[in-house]
Amino acid sequence: MPSGSNPSSLVWLRDDLRLDDNPALVKAASLDGPLTVVYVLDEASPGVRPLGGAAKWWLHHSLAALGADLAAAGSRLLLRRGAAAGIIQALAEETGATTLLWNRRYGGPERAVDAGLKEWATGRGITATSFQANLMFEPWTVRTGAGGPYKVFTPFWRACLDGTEPRLPLEAPRRLPPPAADASGQPPASESLADWGLLPHTPDWSVGLGATWTPGESGAHSRLEEFVDGPVEDYGTGRNIPGVEGTSRLSPHLRFGEISPFRIWHTLREHFPQQAPSDVGIFRSELGWREFCWQLLYENPELASRNYRPEFDRFAWQTPSESELTAWRQGRTGYPLVDAGMRQLWQTGWMHNRVRMAAASFLVKNLLADWRLGEAWFWDTLVDADAASNPANWQWVAGSGADASPYFRIFNPITQSKKFDAEGRYLRRYLPELSGLDAKRIHEPWKADCALDYPDPIVGLPESRARALDTYQRLKDT
Ligand SMILES: Cc1cc2nc3c(=O)[nH]c(=O)nc-3n(C[C@H](O)[C@H](O)[C@H](O)COP(=O)(O)OP(=O)(O)OC[C@H]3O[C@@H](n4cnc5c(N)ncnc54)[C@H](O)[C@@H]3O)c2cc1C
Repeated sequence: MPSGSNPSSLVWLRDDLRLDDNPALVKAASLDGPLTVVYVLDEASPGVRPLGGAAKWWLHHSLAALGADLAAAGSRLLLRRGAAAGIIQALAEETGATTLLWNRRYGGPERAVDAGLKEWATGRGITATSFQANLMFEPWTVRTGAGGPYKVFTPFWRACLDGTEPRLPLEAPRRLPPPAADASGQPPASESLADWGLLPHTPDWSVGLGATWTPGESGAHSRLEEFVDGPVEDYGTGRNIPGVEGTSRLSPHLRFGEISPFRIWHTLREHFPQQAPSDVGIFRSELGWREFCWQLLYENPELASRNYRPEFDRFAWQTPSESELTAWRQGRTGYPLVDAGMRQLWQTGWMHNRVRMAAASFLVKNLLADWRLGEAWFWDTLVDADAASNPANWQWVAGSGADASPYFRIFNPITQSKKFDAEGRYLRRYLPELSGLDAKRIHEPWKADCALDYPDPIVGLPESRARALDTYQRLKDT
């Protein structure tokens, strides 16, 4: 503590917008003196990636929910915007903070900010402490026998499971100390959430998002309960069927840290105290993929811009025409599964994983477009757009990533929809213009003998597949 000062703490919340299982807040609740809780909208620090539109929409509502939850616990959420390091330093000085607390982040630019701040604090006699909160297995703790990072998921996850079980989640503090106040009793001034302009104006494309999601901690916990009470027991099958709610839909809640992976892990433990069904193990391994993606980003901070496999720097991507790209983005490629997925994305900010794979494969293999084009569109439109999972999965589909899908694996959108949406339930939901077609025709509407307000395929599957295979083969041969 700086000599002569009264204790005062500052918690900086980032991708951990929750009270439950929040080690930084729990620690702060145990300290003497006032507590300032701040969120910084940082679009200014070098290398920090500004959020996409859908994620901004989510953030707005998540911060509103968090502000209410903090107020109920006797605290207050302070909002500031700008380069985070300068803002936290100024706020620490303004509030006379003797302790800085935060939960760890794993992206390169974010780690650089945190390291700089820690050094600054130490130089001033301020205690800066960070906690593990958002990953169950921090990247540097899971290592191969040779001491390096894992490049393949299965041994990575086996090593995680062979290690110590993730710790128990911490209960939310019931009461938090009130914020620091100046000589006239005023807490530090907060910016207004509404002034941040995170919500869309005209056109307001967020209606479907609002109808689909409840951002915030209580929405996250409701999702978990619904999932654990039903779909998890058939997850192994259900997760592949886009027409049913067979997955947890926790991804945006995890993205913003409204629920901790430790809480999810132990809720499953409590629900299945004996031997858990294999479906639970499959679900846990999906949480493992999230951890693996973060480990990849930790080791490769430029995962969103550089090929993980450098040989892909020579790959002959083709520049798609503006009309091809627009057709893909708007869900008008003429392939129902791809189009339904892209429209689900636009309407709800989320797309089923199987359909993400098919839609991404169509862009990078059938249109031979650089995966970064797709990654950027998903970044802007997904409510769960995540700095690790988005590029890692795009690179997985493209073949340029770690443990990547082999280059010859080209998802056939017709086969995929016949297999996983046989009755066309999912297709009908997002493609109303095809809703009159029967289960046989809906996968290949160009074979229907009626006029439809639906485009013909923008590219033939056999020829575009052959072109992709040929291009990948040339990469291998050089
Ligand atoms: C091209 C492409 C882009 C993607 N971009 C993202 C993204 O930006 N953010 C994101 O969270 N996921 C991304 N994914 C992974 C996956 O599609 C979503 O995590 C999943 O669909 C979220 O739905 P859910 O919460 O119902 O998942 P569930 O099936 O219920 O899985 C539970 C949790 O496990 C994690 N998870 C599941 N699958 C994966 C995976 N393949 N990679 C990493 N984590 C996974 C998620 O946190 C998810 O919430 C992407 C996949 C593809 C193919």
